[in-house]
Amino acid sequence: MVSYRAKSLEEENMESRSGIIVFDLIVIGAGVMGSSTAYRSSKLGHRTILLEQYDFLHHRGSSHGESRTIRATYPEVYYTAMARQAAELWAEAEADAGFRVHIKTSQLDVGPANASLRAVVSSCRKTSLPHSVLNAEELSRMFSGRMSIPEDWTAVTTDLGGVIRPTKAVSMFQMLAVRNGAVLKDNMEVSDIRRDEIKGGIVVSTSTGEEFIGRKCVVTAGAWTRKLVNKVSGLELPIQPLETMVSYWRIKPGHEGDFSITRGGGGNFPTFASYGNPYIYGTPSLEYPGLIKVGVHGGRPCDPDSRPWRTSFRFDALRKWIEEIFRGSVDASEPVSTQSCMYSMTPDEDFVIDFLGGEEFREDVVVGGGFSGHGFKMAPLVAKVLVDLAFEGKAEGVEMRHFRIGRFAEDPRGNVKDYMAQVGILSSGDDSFGAVE
Ligand SMILES: Cc1cc2nc3c(=O)[nH]c(=O)nc-3n(C[C@H](O)[C@H](O)[C@H](O)COP(=O)(O)OP(=O)(O)OC[C@H]3O[C@@H](n4cnc5c(N)ncnc54)[C@H](O)[C@@H]3O)c2cc1C
Repeated sequence: MVSYRAKSLEEENMESRSGIIVFDLIVIGAGVMGSSTAYRSSKLGHRTILLEQYDFLHHRGSSHGESRTIRATYPEVYYTAMARQAAELWAEAEADAGFRVHIKTSQLDVGPANASLRAVVSSCRKTSLPHSVLNAEELSRMFSGRMSIPEDWTAVTTDLGGVIRPTKAVSMFQMLAVRNGAVLKDNMEVSDIRRDEIKGGIVVSTSTGEEFIGRKCVVTAGAWTRKLVNKVSGLELPIQPLETMVSYWRIKPGHEGDFSITRGGGGNFPTFASYGNPYIYGTPSLEYPGLIKVGVHGGRPCDPDSRPWRTSFRFDALRKWIEEIFRGSVDASEPVSTQSCMYSMTPDEDFVIDFLGGEEFREDVVVGGGFSGHGFKMAPLVAKVLVDLAFEGKAEGVEMRHFRIGRFAEDPRGNVKDYMAQVGILSSGDDSFGAVE
């Protein structure tokens, strides 16, 4: 068995135990959550190591790709407040790095005036988030006819929106963590986490036979969280991996600039979400000129270690939506490019951010998982919360009760909400992605 050793313990000014480095924090999983946690922890001067089972920036989890939406419009008022804090922390990380990962534009939410959309407006009001509520005619005027919604739909616009470049952002956090002195190791699959009852500390072992010792440990294992947590503690977290798909559609010739995110491209087009059934979301044309990303928020249950890697679904509902809302300016016949990705769904779509607890791990192991297809925008705030929980035992400024592990023991549905669920989990026989009933 190999134990990770320092080149010079004195030089690195570290606590040591028989020549073995004792890290302040071991972070497991280098998606956006783990990478931003390593950045935050190392920025605060904690001796930090980040362990990833595959290559850094791999495409087998949830944090790869070209675009993620940032928006503060949520039916849940606590997410509205969190997204606003997260936006400030994205700006802080960008300032540390010296380059941008958040391309700003406005956010547009549309849909029938259902309970979810009413709750979105209410969240804006309660948090004093500047917003405008528009009817179909006003929306059409605002977008000079580029978009139209049915007469009985409503639209909400807010300034806080935009695209975060995911792979670039994860790489930014990793680069900053290294710059702050963190140790990053990939191709290190964590096989066990245990407490060293005699010497103290948390021992993390890998399938390559190495061991790392930390005062604290954060588990951010994405779609593998349920498996890893169950293996080390026996706890069954209801975090269901779903395989989902990103799809890009061709903008018809002559209209490309209309859907561009940049003013230069003529568009200044918003990031958008549609609260109908299914819930549809998208980003303006940016990463692939002439294409626009429009997708359905949902997916099919999968095992992250043996995924079907499906590349085609029946896009019926999506086609209809694109045809109607973009008034024939986008070719709705077929997506021209698709990419597979995974969600980690909880029954209530709320995150899991809590101490692992129990006799063995108590408050020394913290779990951040179950980001349910909407976590990316929150990553630097989630990182701050995870680091505060690990080192301070509490996190301030965020309503942590929504993210407790214990909520599922009280009610298997988790937090019960009075508006409809946004996400469709398709059964294995259902091929009609985009037609969730
Ligand atoms: C198609 C798609 C669109 C999305 N759109 C948005 C959006 O517009 N806005 C938004 O805010 N969010 C969005 N999300 C959600 C967001 O991307 C995720 O919430 C976020 O990326 C989750 O990050 P993570 O770090 O928890 O998981 P991951 O990125 O999967 O990272 C977990 C990491 O842990 C590693 N790991 C697992 N087990 C082990 C182990 N035993 N040892 C070592 N390493 C391990 C994995 O290999 C992986 O790298 C979207 C997600 C998808 C898939």
